[in-house]
Amino acid sequence: MRNLVLVLGDQLDHASAAHDDFDADNDVVWMAEVDTETTHVWCHKLRIAMFLSAMRHFRDELRKKDRTVEYHELQRQPSKDRGRTFAEVLEKDVERLKPERLVVVQPGDLRVQTQLKDCVAELGIELEIRLDRHFYCTRDEFAEYADDRKTLQLEYFYRDLRKKHDILMEDDRQPEGGQWNFDHDNRKSFGRSGPEALPKPKNFRLDAITKDVIDLVQHRFKEHPGSLDHFTLPVTRRQAKSFLNHFIDNILPDFGKWEDAMWTDEAFLYHSRLSAPLNMKLLNPRECVDAAVEAYRIGNAPLNSVEGFVRQILGWREFIRGVYWLKMPEYLELNHFDHQRDLPSFFWDGETEMNCVKQSMQHVIDHGYSHHIHRLMVLGNFAQLWGVRPRLFHEWHMAMYVDAIDWVSLPNTLGMSQFGDGGIVGTKPYCSSGNYINKMSDFCKSCRFDYKKRVGDDACPFTTLYWEFLDRHFDLLKDNPRMKFPIKNLEKMRSKPGEMSEIRDRAAELRE
Ligand code: SF4
Repeated sequence: MRNLVLVLGDQLDHASAAHDDFDADNDVVWMAEVDTETTHVWCHKLRIAMFLSAMRHFRDELRKKDRTVEYHELQRQPSKDRGRTFAEVLEKDVERLKPERLVVVQPGDLRVQTQLKDCVAELGIELEIRLDRHFYCTRDEFAEYADDRKTLQLEYFYRDLRKKHDILMEDDRQPEGGQWNFDHDNRKSFGRSGPEALPKPKNFRLDAITKDVIDLVQHRFKEHPGSLDHFTLPVTRRQAKSFLNHFIDNILPDFGKWEDAMWTDEAFLYHSRLSAPLNMKLLNPRECVDAAVEAYRIGNAPLNSVEGFVRQILGWREFIRGVYWLKMPEYLELNHFDHQRDLPSFFWDGETEMNCVKQSMQHVIDHGYSHHIHRLMVLGNFAQLWGVRPRLFHEWHMAMYVDAIDWVSLPNTLGMSQFGDGGIVGTKPYCSSGNYINKMSDFCKSCRFDYKKRVGDDACPFTTLYWEFLDRHFDLLKDNPRMKFPIKNLEKMRSKPGEMSEIRDRAAELRE
C-alpha cells in the first residue's frame, strides 16, 4: 500500500487536502472511534453520539465513492484487543497494512498531533502532514502576522482579513456601510414582553446509523453527563448545507439585534448553531460567509446581522485558532489570577437555586449547547468570580459542548472567558454582577435571589462575588483602562466603613 490517509473526527471534509491525489488502487482511508477520545475529558453523551454518527456517515460516503476505508467502530462492550488510544489502534493497522506513508491534515488539537508524531517515530514510517485549507488564515500566516506586533487585537486582524478577501467592502476599499462593526445595534434585550414568534429550529429525522450510535452511547457511556433526547444537529454534508440555508433564510435577519439576549426555556433564539458542523468541517467557513453576504446584497438580511455573523466566523474563529497554535503548549497552564478552585457540582447536573445558571445548564444538558452569552456572561462569569482554575473550565467546556474542539475551546474559555492569559485574546475580564443578567434576560424575575443585593441571605451570588472579585484582584485590575468605572465604584465602596468586609464575609459564606 502507498498511503494510509488518516481522517480524524473533526476532519469530515471531502475537499480536504488529505484526499488530494488519492489513488483508489493503492491508498486506503483510515478512521477510528477510540475510547480515549470520549474519556480523556468527561464527555457529554450527545457530543459522543454526534461525532460517531457524523464519522460513520462520512465513512459510508467515501465507500460510495469506491474508496477503501479501514474503520474501527466502538462496540457496546469494550474490547481489549483493539487498543484504547488512537496510537494503539493505529500501530496495529500500520503493522498489518504496511503503508509506505501516513497522510493527515493538520490536526485541530496539539495533543493529537503530538500523539501522532510520537507514534510514527516509533513505527519508523513517514508522516506527511498536509495544510488545513478549511481556514482563511494558515497557522504560518498568523504567526507571521503576530511576529512584529506587541499585542494581538482581533479588531485589526479582522479588518485585514475583510480587506484581503474583499468581504463586505465598498468599491473605494471602505467597509460596507461606512463602519467596521455594528455592535451597538446588536445588544438588545427582549424587555418585559419576551421574544415574538421565534423561527422554528431545523431538525433532521434520525436514520439507522444515528439510532445505532445513540443505542451504543446509552449503553457504553451511560454514566456520562447530558441527555440524548434532543439529537437535532446535522451529521452529513447534505444536512449541514440545509442547516446553513435554513439559518440564512429564516434566522439571520434577526440574529444581530438579539445576539446577546437570553430568555427562559429558549436555548437557540436567533443563533445559527453552525459551530458544530463547521468545527467538524461539514461546512466550509467561506460558504457560510458568502451566503450571509449574499443575503445582505439581495436585501434579505440587514448589515448589522450580517456583519455580526461574518465577524464571528472570519474574525473571531480565525483569530483564536491562530492564538492557539501560536501560544501552545504554554497557553494551557496560563492562570493570570492564580485561580485554583474546582467547578461546583452544578456545572455537571444544573442543580442550583441560581435561576440563570439553572437555565443555562439546562441548555447544556439537553443540547450540549448554549449560546455565547450563556457561556460568557452566566457560566463563564460565575466560574471566574468563583475562582475556578481556567484549565478546568476549558476541560469542562470540552466535555459538555458539542462544538468544542481543543483549538476553539481553549482560547475562548481560558483566554476570553476566564482572562487566564492576562489579556492575549481579550482586553479585559468578562465579569459582571447580577445587573447585566437582569438586563439581558427574564431570569431574575423568578429567582430566589435579588440581583441588586450584595449581602444577606437573598443576595445574588453574582453580585456578591463580582465585588469580591474586583476587591481581591484590585492590584491586577486597577490599571486596566477598560475597568476604570467598576474600579472607581469599588473604591467608593472600600471607603465606606464595613461595606467591603460584609461582602467578603458573604462571599466566604457562599464558598462554604
Ligand atoms: Fe442569576 Fe442573580 Fe438573577 Fe438569580 S438574581 S437569576 S442568581 S443574576
